[in-house]
Amino acid sequence: MREFIPFEDARRLVVEAVPQQPVVRVGLADALGRTLAQPVRSRDTIPPFDNSAMDGFAVRTADFADLPVVLSVLEDIPAGSVPQQEVQPGTCSRIMTGAQFPSGADAVVPVEWTEPAGEGRIRFLRAPTPGQHVRQAGRDITDGQLVFAPGQRVTPPVVGMLATLGFAAVDVRVPPHVAVISTGNELVDAAMTPGPGQIRNANGPALAAQVTSAGGVSFPPLLARDDEAHIRAVIEQALAADMLVFSGGVSVGDYDFVKQVLDAMGMELVFWKVQQRPGKPLAFGLLQGKPVFGLPGNPVSSAMCFEQYVRPALAQMLGRQEVFAPLHPARLTAPTRKMAGLHYFARGHATVDAEGSLLVRDTGPQGSHLYSSVVQANCIFHMPPEMESPAPGTQVLVEWLRW
Ligand code: AMP
Ligand code: MG
Repeated sequence: MREFIPFEDARRLVVEAVPQQPVVRVGLADALGRTLAQPVRSRDTIPPFDNSAMDGFAVRTADFADLPVVLSVLEDIPAGSVPQQEVQPGTCSRIMTGAQFPSGADAVVPVEWTEPAGEGRIRFLRAPTPGQHVRQAGRDITDGQLVFAPGQRVTPPVVGMLATLGFAAVDVRVPPHVAVISTGNELVDAAMTPGPGQIRNANGPALAAQVTSAGGVSFPPLLARDDEAHIRAVIEQALAADMLVFSGGVSVGDYDFVKQVLDAMGMELVFWKVQQRPGKPLAFGLLQGKPVFGLPGNPVSSAMCFEQYVRPALAQMLGRQEVFAPLHPARLTAPTRKMAGLHYFARGHATVDAEGSLLVRDTGPQGSHLYSSVVQANCIFHMPPEMESPAPGTQVLVEWLRW
């Protein structure tokens, strides 16, 4: 077990420790938000045949030496049909968008550039260039092309591309089931009126929502009293999940029993305490091979530590290509308070200036009990341990919030 370790080490230890989820095959209707577990290689050429990009006429550009040109119409080619005739000098075929392009022709003239000339003939007022408005077979995707690598998250256009390529079902990772366990005798459900000394449980519902937004499936949030026997009973129940996420009870207070109970149950503690703010008392371990996070109970610490540790862990379990949020350099527009020695991930509001540079300021007082600082943020900005109360203009690293 390692104690009070650097932020980067802690994040690496987490993603190295978590297991990968098994694979399941799902139909496209159930694929949204999932993560592909297979490479997707095209077995076709897309578009599969040359076709028209316009409603108009398939013509030979060689016929267009002098305008206006009058050509006789050989046939109609609606989408979904196959041309029956080769376009000969002095002729054209009426063609609709998406219809297969006939042989002999080399361009499409949009209907707007034409007028009827009587007896199955059309007058053309403008000349096309060769290839104009013809969509070439294979222009989008070539046969055998690797279209998606494993770890690709399935977005709506990914669903559309899979359908285009004829993948009606795909292999994806089973989403991790996560048990969120809030601890604290002071906590009551949101539907209740708190009694003296009590507060409503914010972290339970918030963490469950974060799990969902990160591609996991949350169990109904569990609530444990600050009582060793009760915590143990709740853990037994929570072990049906693939991952356990605790809020509260991992600090050094007299009623912080979570770590003790997990130790007694045989958890392999990987680290406890990280050189960071917020969330210094963060604990991480493996119980029966399942990742267990002990997030500090302060709502800011809980929300931010989820983003820095639990979301990447879920991404790794899902085999996602992108595990950590990308970081973007940004300049501070206002001073912000920071102690040297700890890595900070502050709540920020980022904007882009007229030159396109990223600017950021904090969202106000950053105390780990001030939840407003989270609600107002559109990003997190990182400040390395050596930085001390940076002045405006200092460069920091921004990550967009991914919820
Ligand atoms: P702890 O980590 O248990 O010492 O809790 C630290 C602080 O966070 C205390 O002020 C708790 O009341 C508060 N807290 C703990 N859990 C929650 C929760 N689920 N919702 C809101 N506040 C909490
Ligand atoms: Mg507590």
